[in-house]
Amino acid sequence: MALVFDKMHVIIEGKTKIIYENPDDPKTVFMKFKDDITAGDGVKHDVIQGKALVDWKTNKDIFEYLNRKGIHTHYVESPQECVSIVRKLDYKIDLEVVTRRVAAGSILKWGTAVEGQRFDPLITQFHYKDDPLHDPMLDAAYVEFIISSKQDGHWFKEMREINIDVFQELETAFKQCRIQLIDFKLEYGLIDGKVTLIDEISGGSFRLWPYAKENPDFNQPNILSELDPKGRLDKDNYRLGESLDQVQTKFEQIANLTDTFKDLS
Ligand code: 5GP
Repeated sequence: MALVFDKMHVIIEGKTKIIYENPDDPKTVFMKFKDDITAGDGVKHDVIQGKALVDWKTNKDIFEYLNRKGIHTHYVESPQECVSIVRKLDYKIDLEVVTRRVAAGSILKWGTAVEGQRFDPLITQFHYKDDPLHDPMLDAAYVEFIISSKQDGHWFKEMREINIDVFQELETAFKQCRIQLIDFKLEYGLIDGKVTLIDEISGGSFRLWPYAKENPDFNQPNILSELDPKGRLDKDNYRLGESLDQVQTKFEQIANLTDTFKDLS
C-alpha cells in the first residue's frame, strides 16, 4: 500500500528532500525526494518535473552498492518511488566533506591547481555547512589541530577515511561505465555514537566526466586531455546555465549508469 505523507509529521524540509517521522518505527525516518534543484547555495532555484524520481533511483543504487561494500551508512531501503527509509540521526555534523581526484570547480579559484590536475593520493576538505556564509572551508592546519587535540577529533579522521573509501568504490564503479569521478561532497551524522554516512548521493553531489578516448592514460600529472568535461553528466550543467531539459536528460543518464551497479558485487 502506498505511503500517504499528507498527515505525517515533517521533521525538516530541505532544498531537495523532506524528512518525515516514521510512525511505525522511531529508529528510522522517511526521506522523500523533491523535484527542486538549486545552485549557488540556494540562490539559483528551479523545479524539474521528474527530477525527484531520477535522484531517488541514483541515490538508491549508490547507497545499496555502498552498503554491500560494507560502508557504514544511514540507508535502509526504498519502499516506493521517491521515498527511502533511513536510520534516524542522533546528531547531524554540520560539515560538507569534499574529496577530489581531479582539479575542477572551486579549487581552481583558491588553490594553485590547474584544471585536470590529478590528485594521487586523493585530497579531502571540510566545509562548514552554512548557505549564507557560502560553506566556508576549514583551514587544513586547523583540521589537523582538531584531530590531534580535541575529544571529538576522531570524527574528522573517520569522515576523511570514509570519504576516501567511498570515493574509491564509486570511482571503480563509474570506471566500468567509462566515466571518471572527478570529485564529490558527502555528509555525516552520528547514529548510536558512530560516524555514519548520511544525506543523499545523486547527480548534484559529484562531478562526472566521460572518457575522451578509447584508451585514456591516467598515469600523468594532468589528465584533462583524456577526459571530456563538455560531456559532463552532473549538476555543473545546471550551474553553467544549460536548459532544464538538458539537465534532466543528463541526470537520467546518471541513473541509467548507476542502475548497472546492481550487477557489481
Ligand atoms: P566545489 O568545491 O568544486 O564547488 O565542489 C566540489 C564537489 O562537491 C562537486 O562535486 C560539487 O558538486 C560538490 N558540492 C560542493 N558544495 C556542494 C553543495 O553545497 N551541495 C551539493 N549537493 N554538492 C556540493
